[in-house]
Amino acid sequence: MRSWPVPEVPTLPGRGPRVLLHDTSSGGLVPVGPESGTATLYVCGITPYDATHLGHANTYVAFDLLGRAWRDAGLQVRYVQNVTDVDDPLLERAEATGVDWRDLALSQIELFRGDMTALSVVPPQEYLGVVEAVDLVSAAVRDLLAAGAAYRVAGVDGGPDGDVYFPVDSDVAFGTVGGYDLETMLELSAERGGDPRRPGKRNALDPLLWRVERPGEPAWDGGVLGRGRPGWHIECTAIALQHLGMPIDVQGGGSDLVFPHHEMGAAHAHLLRPESRPFARAYAHSGMVALDGEKMSKSKGNLVLVSKLVAAGVPAAVVRLAIVAHHWRAEWEWTDEVLAEAQARYARWNSAVSAASGPAAEELLATVRARLADDLDAPGAVAAVDAWVEAATAEPGDDAEAPDLVRRTVSALLGVVLP
Ligand code: ZN
Repeated sequence: MRSWPVPEVPTLPGRGPRVLLHDTSSGGLVPVGPESGTATLYVCGITPYDATHLGHANTYVAFDLLGRAWRDAGLQVRYVQNVTDVDDPLLERAEATGVDWRDLALSQIELFRGDMTALSVVPPQEYLGVVEAVDLVSAAVRDLLAAGAAYRVAGVDGGPDGDVYFPVDSDVAFGTVGGYDLETMLELSAERGGDPRRPGKRNALDPLLWRVERPGEPAWDGGVLGRGRPGWHIECTAIALQHLGMPIDVQGGGSDLVFPHHEMGAAHAHLLRPESRPFARAYAHSGMVALDGEKMSKSKGNLVLVSKLVAAGVPAAVVRLAIVAHHWRAEWEWTDEVLAEAQARYARWNSAVSAASGPAAEELLATVRARLADDLDAPGAVAAVDAWVEAATAEPGDDAEAPDLVRRTVSALLGVVLP
């Protein structure tokens, strides 16, 4: 699948330090990416029916900051992202609105591309829909079956026999990504697409690998699995193993993906490639964005869409600046004040970098690099730019190169393009 255009990323003098990132699994900061060579990143993509709300934007901007910090440290970045372009919520929305699920997916993916382009997010090298990866995914399910790490379940309520499930007990590391207790895992499984009450499973937590065909649902030939479609978690595992290998440096996503999605995805990978454990060296999770006191989500219907803000005349760079003014792991709320503050800051920054000269900015570049290398502390970087802008406003300074260096620093590392 086509991704979106690569934004211009200005070059900067020198190099950034090695990046430390908070890893959900260990609960602490870990160095991510190799010291030299290629860093690998897999970030879970959207289910294309509600693109792109600020919660999504927060996630993809967070991992874009990581990619930018890695490149600035001299690494190559290999980045893969999927699109869950066939799944229950998408099919339900299509059914409810009378739109063909393929048309709904295509239109939302197109919106997402436009939003990522506007937000200056560097695109993944591989951007794959499940529909185009279905052979890859069904092969992974067959491999698990052959390895004894999958089983078939009898049909219930007149449904067909043969849905394939993954026994979570087969992975000794199961539970170590999120570190949740059993009760929490059961709750989250029920809330987030699992089916803990389905009869016939060995363990209530066991996730679906392959859903055999139902009348009226899209289905593909799965060989010995029969016609059907893939479960959600195995889709990401199969795509990541094919396009990144294992272990990957960072598996990323929103914090609502810790369980079950990333826990299950890792468990699948551990059984598919036991010799290459773990699936990821670090599991990184961005915070949720709220509106009116509640997490922004499709089920609550309280979505602020990037495309709507931009259509209303808000520059996308201002939206990005509003996002990076919050720590990537923070839970924060989108309000009129957040937007107004970003607009005012953007105007102040623009004015300072448009001056003929300013105070020396080499130290600012070093500070922005240091802040970002410390668990992507973009708010710390923003504060450092604020301080330079304040100094420049108070006392113009005589460094004629400084305003342009600040402009390039902000654009290259924070992804905020100043005109
Ligand atoms: Zn995923």
